[in-house]
Amino acid sequence: MTALNELTLAEARDGLKAKDFSAREIAQAHLDAIEKADALNAYIVGTPDRALKMAEVSDEKIAKGEARPLEGLPLGIKDLFATQGVHTTAGSKILEGFEPHYESNVSTQLWRDGAVMLGKLNLDEFAMGSSNETSAYGNTISPWRRSGSDVALVPGGSSGGSAAAVAAHLCLGATATDTGGSIRQPAAFTGTVGIKPTYGRCSRWGIIAYASSLDQAGPIARTVQDCAILLGSMAGHDPRDTTSVDLPVPDFEAAISRGVKGLTIGIPKEYRVEGMPEEILRLWDQGAEWLKAAGATIKEISLPHTQYALPAYYIVAPAEASSNLARYDGVRYGLRVPGKDIAGMYENTRAAGFGREVKRRIMIGTYVLSAGYYDAYYVRAQKIRTLIKRDFEQAYAAGVDAILTPATPSAAFGLGEMASADPVQMYLNDVFTVTVNMAGLPGIAVPAGLDSQGLPLGLQLIGRPFDEETLFAAAQTIENAAGRMKLPPAWWA
Ligand code: GLN
Repeated sequence: MTALNELTLAEARDGLKAKDFSAREIAQAHLDAIEKADALNAYIVGTPDRALKMAEVSDEKIAKGEARPLEGLPLGIKDLFATQGVHTTAGSKILEGFEPHYESNVSTQLWRDGAVMLGKLNLDEFAMGSSNETSAYGNTISPWRRSGSDVALVPGGSSGGSAAAVAAHLCLGATATDTGGSIRQPAAFTGTVGIKPTYGRCSRWGIIAYASSLDQAGPIARTVQDCAILLGSMAGHDPRDTTSVDLPVPDFEAAISRGVKGLTIGIPKEYRVEGMPEEILRLWDQGAEWLKAAGATIKEISLPHTQYALPAYYIVAPAEASSNLARYDGVRYGLRVPGKDIAGMYENTRAAGFGREVKRRIMIGTYVLSAGYYDAYYVRAQKIRTLIKRDFEQAYAAGVDAILTPATPSAAFGLGEMASADPVQMYLNDVFTVTVNMAGLPGIAVPAGLDSQGLPLGLQLIGRPFDEETLFAAAQTIENAAGRMKLPPAWWA
């Protein structure tokens, strides 16, 4: 029999319903697996007591025939979501000791539907990064290794803890957030599935803000179906977030079996960037072949402003971050380092509390917003953002239903390999994902194969606004053709 923590979320849901095992048993199986996986450093905070208590309630509900949609399913929560009474860090020292008095909207909805909380997952500090190496709580290590090598690899970022925990069976699924790729890139690096929904689909209320006009919550899970189930629970209108959209939440799970017959899938020529490994190009072609074989029409398209997306993102995101992070001054949250007067206290707290990458973003953001540079940088970046959005609108107006691209320009890299003196190297990781945030569109990363070193590679599908259903249908087609990723034997347990 498959160990309880190795079931998919859908299998676990059905097994609980059939009373093949109890919510307590599946919670305990995960808690045991987490305890053995210290080497991965995927969780910042464990909540085993809460997990067992929630599982007990689930078992009662199941016994009474009152099971809710996610009854008894153990999940991990990215530590960017505020969780009431549970240490919430955003991967930063500056939030040391912060225990929110409120619960994020997304996690509230998961608990409303009966899910069980295992703990808080590691991330890049304030979600700024692509490798988890900026976390103040030490980096998460990927459960994957290159074949025949024991070099530690990054799980991607910023939702690296979420992706690693899902891949290593330390939860059935996890919440994550994506500002420029933080759901899709770690999913691609770890052979898991991750969807960033349309901006406005999930409430941002209670999620610690990085760049508010780009941030969106979404799930990471081991299958397309599991992601569809989780998003169904996470999504929905919330009047407390003025950018949350008042639209009904479709039955995402039903959409996975729709297939792609009759759909037109666009292949943007601008995504063939220089220096991309041959095997990623081949996999991309392979993905198009799979969709074609399932009845889709493949069409080459042009998204001419693609090359400006990354530089524009790295102006817009830091600008918003510099403003959002002004609130961490030692007065209201977490860390406080005294100074000779109040300004000294602010300075000491921020100097001690923020890491290097966060400070770099605050400085870039403050610079591009400052008088004299605002028009040259920030306003231009916003104009580029409009052009990027228009590129997509034109493709969709010409009959394209979804767009297929690689998820990342490389497979997972080794710890320290990228975090060199040049941060721009790291930023280049986001080349295929940031366009989607800039345009507010939904995007899903789905594993499509292994590279020559045995590491997972992912493909990305980008959809029309609020058409996550087509993404689930097309991603399921790819998952069926590619097969599920099989994690090599656990070296960490
Ligand atoms: N890697 C990107 C950044 O550092 C994206 C991060 C994210 O999506 N949260 O900004």
